[in-house]
Parts: sequence; structure tokens; C-alpha cells
Amino acid sequence: MVVLSGMSTLEQMQDNISYMRDFGGLTGAQRRILAEARAELDRIPIIPCTTCNYCSKVCPGNIGISGSFTAMNYYTLYGDKAAAAAQETWLVGSHGKKSAGECIKCGKCEQVCPQHIAIRAELEKVSAALLQ
Ligand code: SF4
Ligand code: SF4
Repeated sequence: MVVLSGMSTLEQMQDNISYMRDFGGLTGAQRRILAEARAELDRIPIIPCTTCNYCSKVCPGNIGISGSFTAMNYYTLYGDKAAAAAQETWLVGSHGKKSAGECIKCGKCEQVCPQHIAIRAELEKVSAALLQ
């Protein structure tokens, strides 16, 4: 038997489905606005880390990769170095991880990153921006 979350009866399912009856999708103008917003967001050089932490499972140096990237993204977005450095301290050192500058550049992390991030190069940028 298939159990649909949030639906216990046939009437509830029909009620839920009814909200899609007049669904027309996005208009051309709405699609253009979304594309423009997307283009603006793409101009911000955020590291596209999803904090999946697959990299941390293979890193022999116990580097706080995702925490470093979260802190760096904060710095990129808000330009507040002190706050970003405090984030780095909390997300990396306070969680038992080593800082970006201690990466030995073995490259194992990059082989498993689903976002294909140039992790070694990005860690160098974190080190230069937040740890000097
Ligand atoms: S390159 Fe650096 S961060 Fe990546 S797995 Fe090796 S030591 Fe860890
Ligand atoms: S594997 Fe890639 S996306 Fe996942 S936490 Fe590491 S750097 Fe971020």
C-alpha cells in the first residue's frame, strides 16, 4: 500500500490535488525576472559548497573544509572579516578541525566533491583572506 505523507483519506488527496487544477506555470515575464535574478546571484563569487562533508571523510589532514568555506562565503557576502574569522574559529577549530593553512594538498577531497570545487585553491584563498 502506498502511503502519501500528510494524506490519510481519498478526500484529502483529492483536496490536495485540486490546488493544482488551474496551475499554469510561470509566465514569460516571470521567467525573465528569475533569469535576471539568477544572473545577478551568479556574479557573486560564492564557493558552491553544500556542506555535504564527503570531503572530510577522506581528508587525511582533518581539515575543516566546509567550515572554512562557510566562513569565506560569509566574508564574500558581507565583507566583515572579523565576523568571518570568528566563524572560521568556531566552525573549524572549535569543532576539532584543522585550519585551511594546514592542508597538505593531496587532492583526495577534490576526487569526491560532488560540486567539483577546486578545494585546494579555495583553501589557499581562505588562508590568505581570513588567517593571516
Ligand atoms: S588536499 Fe588538503 S583538504 Fe583536501 S584531502 Fe588533502 S589535506 Fe585534506
Ligand atoms: S565535498 Fe565539496 S560540497 Fe561537499 S562539503 Fe566538501 S567541499 Fe563542500
